[in-house]
Amino acid sequence: MKKDTRLIHEGMNPADHHDSLTVPLYQTSTFTFHSAEQGQRRFAGEEQGGIYSRLGNPTVDVLEKRMMALEGGGGALVFGSGMAAVSTILVHLTKSGDHILCSKGLYGCTFGLLSIFEQKYGIHHSLSGMTSKEEIVAAIQDNTTVIYVESPINPTMELVDLYLVTEVAKERGIRVVVDNTFCSPYLQQPLEIGADFVLHSATKYLNGHGDVIAGVLVGKDADEMHRIRMSVQKDYGGIISPFDAWLILRGLKTLHVRMERHVKNAQKLVDYLNTVPAVETVLYPFDAKHPQTAIAKKQMSAGGGLISFIIKGGTEKAQQFLNALELIHVAVSLGDAETLIQHPPTMTHSVVPDKDRIAMGISNGMLRLSAGLEDIEDLIADLDQAFASIQ
Ligand SMILES: *Cc1c(COP(=O)(O)O)cnc(C)c1O
Repeated sequence: MKKDTRLIHEGMNPADHHDSLTVPLYQTSTFTFHSAEQGQRRFAGEEQGGIYSRLGNPTVDVLEKRMMALEGGGGALVFGSGMAAVSTILVHLTKSGDHILCSKGLYGCTFGLLSIFEQKYGIHHSLSGMTSKEEIVAAIQDNTTVIYVESPINPTMELVDLYLVTEVAKERGIRVVVDNTFCSPYLQQPLEIGADFVLHSATKYLNGHGDVIAGVLVGKDADEMHRIRMSVQKDYGGIISPFDAWLILRGLKTLHVRMERHVKNAQKLVDYLNTVPAVETVLYPFDAKHPQTAIAKKQMSAGGGLISFIIKGGTEKAQQFLNALELIHVAVSLGDAETLIQHPPTMTHSVVPDKDRIAMGISNGMLRLSAGLEDIEDLIADLDQAFASIQ
């Protein structure tokens, strides 16, 4: 089956579910055994079947199979949040004294997790631009066991060359984890490029309807993913509820058509923003002015639905602009049907010290917009009236 068909059918055989068309919601915490001996066999792993929903649930299983197929992995696990996926894979891959090499920008709470690791467990990390083989090699330490990458980087839209990073990591036996939230498997497939694990905040494009918080982890090696299921995921316990898995299955069915429209709207908004005198810079991976379009085109099939832009006049003008919007909602999160906009310096990246934030390229006038699925003319009209009102 092709990817667009798998989104809809993978992992679901109606005959296994009373001929239901859609995946039934198994809203149950536990499963009953027909006999004491059957319970023993299930615990021993000698017989397939339900035990307890923290270890597996039929609704959740379908979502795992679907995500495994979409990312081209050997196994998948879903979680109660994107951060549960991040923490589970990092707990699995590291021990005290290890070092994690990270891309120069990371999701804010991933930074928070890394500082807990540092302070409580002596697991270290450092950041690198990863712009050349030499730069990556110089940043790798004797105790580096994981390279953890986001691309595009939030909110600066800088890219990390996944081909280069996975090649250098492979030579040294270092595992590579990619947070693929910004792209979804529809635009970028890190496992096929050479990464060992890919994860998502399923809260964003995978679910796509702004009503669930969840995470996904897909790995190449089926046995290793099973070991994670039966250790860190089971014992740290950051699992998803069956109902949330059911909602994501529903959302996923339209991922391909949604992504097409997100991308189309984003491209038109980029063209529009490039004509606005109040905008200093537009940051979008497939925009001709982006310095890394060659990398973008090598590893992404389209530029995505997220745009950052820098408005002249810093925080004051940025806030005036947000307050002038009428249709576009001011909110963090991304990948929803509604177009959302936020001000990273005072919102998602307000915890980053000013000096570090400016060094990362997040200037005071930066805004990050997640293009929704509305009619493009309404979106441009709203931006246009907001720019006019702050003149
Ligand atoms: C939202 C997000 C996360 C965290 O996911 P939650 O579902 O909010 O826990 C991690 N990485 C990226 C890039 C995100 O956008």
